[in-house]
Amino acid sequence: MSIKNNPFDNAMEQLARAGEMMELDGNVMEMLSRPQRIHEVAIPVKDASGKLTTYRGYRVQYNNARGPYKGGIRFHPAVDSDEVKALSFWMTIKCAVIDIPYGGAKGGVEVDPRELSANELEQLSRGYVNALYLEIGPKIDIPAPDVYTNAQIMGWMMDQYSRLKGYTSPGAFTGKPVDIGGLADRDMATGRGGFILLEHLRKSTGKEASEMRIAVQGLGNVGYSFAKLAYDAGYKIVGLSDSRGALMSRNGKGLDPEAVLASKHANKTNALYCDGIVCDEAEFAQGTNEELLTMDCDVLVPAALENQITTENAQNVQASLVIELANGPTTPEADDILHSRKITVLPDVLANAGGVAVSYFEWLQNIQYDSWRAGDTNERLADLMIRAYDATTETADKYDCNLRTASFIVAIERISSAMNHRGWV
Ligand code: NAD
Repeated sequence: MSIKNNPFDNAMEQLARAGEMMELDGNVMEMLSRPQRIHEVAIPVKDASGKLTTYRGYRVQYNNARGPYKGGIRFHPAVDSDEVKALSFWMTIKCAVIDIPYGGAKGGVEVDPRELSANELEQLSRGYVNALYLEIGPKIDIPAPDVYTNAQIMGWMMDQYSRLKGYTSPGAFTGKPVDIGGLADRDMATGRGGFILLEHLRKSTGKEASEMRIAVQGLGNVGYSFAKLAYDAGYKIVGLSDSRGALMSRNGKGLDPEAVLASKHANKTNALYCDGIVCDEAEFAQGTNEELLTMDCDVLVPAALENQITTENAQNVQASLVIELANGPTTPEADDILHSRKITVLPDVLANAGGVAVSYFEWLQNIQYDSWRAGDTNERLADLMIRAYDATTETADKYDCNLRTASFIVAIERISSAMNHRGWV
């Protein structure tokens, strides 16, 4: 990754832009310019032959002025300290934009989990908790899934934390399986939050869903759930991709994300796959992620990793709306290009906040030893998303700025007020 696209530098550039626009107090800026705590650990894992490898793990606790630290854990080979710092900063902003009583944190392990056996993956997950259990917990810092982690991994982690504490502590992790305190709604929550905003915007334009063509980068938890909800509501999904490549419509016809995923799982190469059942090669082309980002569509949804829309391709983005479901997919310079081209960007800290919102509901259920029904949270999620959107658009009008800077201003005002009332600044 080039220095220019260091995610923490990008995050600090975003902070500087908002700080300048809102004439932010210097003490608040200083507090927000670095994380409160950075933990780096070595996690031992033995393979079947008994050979031991240590993996580098992180937990960065950025700011807890508004409540316990909160943020996911990523297992990915590109994880490093600056990436986790950036992600923990964005979590701090996100929890404040959506107005839930949490601070921000993030964790990660530098590993390709696809190369581990199931036993090694479980050792790594439990080892992460062994290394960090004194620093986390339901009142301190509550992790959740992120890239290449899932409900099963949260289940192992919650179990390990509970063993070390000597009692079952479901509120220590969110995104767990339902029978150990998870919420059925959590899996789809990040995608649903983005979908709620898509619908809100569409209704304001008076367009029909079937008139809108969507390309989604990343067919994981977030990208898939968004694509599925949009497809079921009648939108046309004209492009889908995963780490190995993209499927793109040649003629505006839509793809069924469920069928594409089923085909990917059935396909031995485990890549997105075009055959007669899922799609017709005369209508759909296989391509690259780069091609997907600049394909002809109305809505572009990056839902994979950071630094996807850059100065290299921002000029060629054809969508008029970008919904950032990934964290940090657009660099600050690319943001300027999209803004000057009048392309609306729903920023990550707003667009993908549905996941942490429903994690918050899961945690509320857990710390009250309650059991909620599936569907209990959808209305409350919609309410939080629309309020956050309204606060952001009002602030954008007030300061005449883009939605990213506006969402940062909304969040920083709230964090700053909390730090003031606690006597920190
Ligand atoms: P996931 O592991 O379920 O899926 C990741 C997807 O990205 C996979 O389809 C993978 O093939 C694809 N991918 C990986 N590398 C890629 C590359 N170089 N180019 C294109 N695609 C690539 O992860 P997820 O939980 O869906 O997270 C996706 C994004 O959403 C991340 O940026 C994450 O931080 C963000 N996010 C996740 C949540 C959540 O609740 N899981 C919440 C908020 C934000």
